[in-house]
Amino acid sequence: MAGRVKAFPGPARTRGFIETVPGIYVGLNLTGGRGGAKAGETIDERSGGDTNFGLILTRNKPIVIDNDIRARKEFVSGMRRITRKAPGFLLNTHHNFDHTSDNAYYHKQGAVSFGAGRTRQEMEREHEADIWVRQMAGRILKVEHLIGKIGVAPPMVTFEDELTIRYGGRTLQMISIGHCHTKSDTVIWMPDEKVLFMGDAFDYRTHPVVRIGNILNWIGALDQLRKFPARQIVPGHGPLPPRGNRCLTEFKGYLIKLRNRTAAALRREKTPARAAKRVRMDEYRNWFRPHLVYVNALKMAKELRGRI
Ligand SMILES: [Zn+2]
Repeated sequence: MAGRVKAFPGPARTRGFIETVPGIYVGLNLTGGRGGAKAGETIDERSGGDTNFGLILTRNKPIVIDNDIRARKEFVSGMRRITRKAPGFLLNTHHNFDHTSDNAYYHKQGAVSFGAGRTRQEMEREHEADIWVRQMAGRILKVEHLIGKIGVAPPMVTFEDELTIRYGGRTLQMISIGHCHTKSDTVIWMPDEKVLFMGDAFDYRTHPVVRIGNILNWIGALDQLRKFPARQIVPGHGPLPPRGNRCLTEFKGYLIKLRNRTAAALRREKTPARAAKRVRMDEYRNWFRPHLVYVNALKMAKELRGRI
């Protein structure tokens, strides 16, 4: 069966900083490097698709988008090769550990951080419930040594729906798109350069994490985001896609297939767990994180049964 389905090509295993538009950099696939293993090293089949971060040069200080304490060394050394200035602003796309766990480091250097009010709440709620770090355990990139040792440093400036930042000759619009990958996802649109940072609302050729998401809502949000006249879309995980927004159509196709196949399986099986076992996503077998198919189908099945 698997052999007969034509697979989408696998993602490029690019790592490091790429200047996508003059002065706008993406730190790609940082923190792991397991995808780029040296000769003789074994490549974990779950590797690749680590978090992407943004670095935007301005006439003033640089702006950083997202961060991960585990990627600090790699990100900061890459950033230093591009600029000697410390970041002035820090923007969070959502609350997850792999996008916000190094906020305190930037605060200490004087950066002002921005994020949705709901993102701040989610960080605080998960920290209080002691799951903010813990829920990342078990992945290849270890967090176990950080459990109980690290607090949250939520964004200082918060907004409800939208916030426009004009700084150092750049304009950045932070737009809340509601409950998609998490309860609060924000995209960052740069209207002059037509660059759209999507956080984890979009992963390129990487199976998305949908665990605390709302997939049906997410599909609707992608339709809205496809209307942006984006020259470059930056995913939260996975390599940089080609110019334009066709990559969003490909990603939406994944979620639609997940929905339709799970709905079909639910008509034949009584429980979400049994239905999820039937769901195949073979054409995506070359994407990063193929082990997520079952958990993604299980989440979809629960959502279709009315449980978010
Ligand atoms: Zn992420």
